[in-house]
Amino acid sequence: MSRRKQIYEGKAKILFEGPEPGTIIQYFKDDATAFNNKKKGTITGKGVLNNRISEFLMTRLEEMGIPTHFVRRLNMREQLVREVEIIPLEVVVRNVAAGSFCQRFGLQEGASLPRSIIEYCYKNDELGDPMVSEEHITAFGWADTRDLDDIMALTLRINDYLSGLFLGVGIKLVDFKLEFGRHWNEHDEMRIILADEISPDCCRLWDMKTNEKMDKDRFRRDLGKVEEAYQEVARRLGILPESGPRDLRGPETMQ
Ligand code: UDP
Repeated sequence: MSRRKQIYEGKAKILFEGPEPGTIIQYFKDDATAFNNKKKGTITGKGVLNNRISEFLMTRLEEMGIPTHFVRRLNMREQLVREVEIIPLEVVVRNVAAGSFCQRFGLQEGASLPRSIIEYCYKNDELGDPMVSEEHITAFGWADTRDLDDIMALTLRINDYLSGLFLGVGIKLVDFKLEFGRHWNEHDEMRIILADEISPDCCRLWDMKTNEKMDKDRFRRDLGKVEEAYQEVARRLGILPESGPRDLRGPETMQ
């Protein structure tokens, strides 16, 4: 790990220079943070699971035509991704009321929403990722209206697809956060692609029958069985080897 040039260390991942220009290696750590870094801890094995879960979800999304930065998984904790210029926005999709949304609007956790709601936050830890509107985004030049049209269209497709995928394995996709980046191809054409990761660190996932939380809220709220929850998500998606490393089954359909 130390021979490679580190580009950036975030809260849950480290980025290293990739083997070829235009590539980056994402290393998934076990570190967990919450409440804008006020709570810190470790979730044993989280990095390994998130690497696998994100690989699985990004691959499925690519298959249905969503451009992503994912190239391939390299080992237990690392994946090769395309280098992008990150758009400094957290794109949050809410299908069911939870977390900070409930406080903001005085809703009970689990309340249904009239439709899925998309929100943007400015990615800036020092400012606590403030929520922003299209006005702020275009005025400050973080993205233009065409970029935002692309982001919105991709986000809606991702939400539809992932909601269905998780429903198929008995999980409710309550809300999640996406990040996008600008990628230039060899002809210098830019397109917006999905970046970062999709894992229980940045999604709220509830068991469909019991509403039991299977995501980082277990860590945030000290609910215990954090590792087990991440493992269960991977198991249901069929990506956790159960009888050895070769046993990689497809997703298991729930009745
Ligand atoms: N989220 C995230 N990173 C952030 C903020 C939120 O991945 O910096 C995810 C979070 O896991 C949840 C969704 O976005 O799935 C909505 O989070 P919310 O705004 O309710 O924030 P929270 O209640 O977690 O502070």
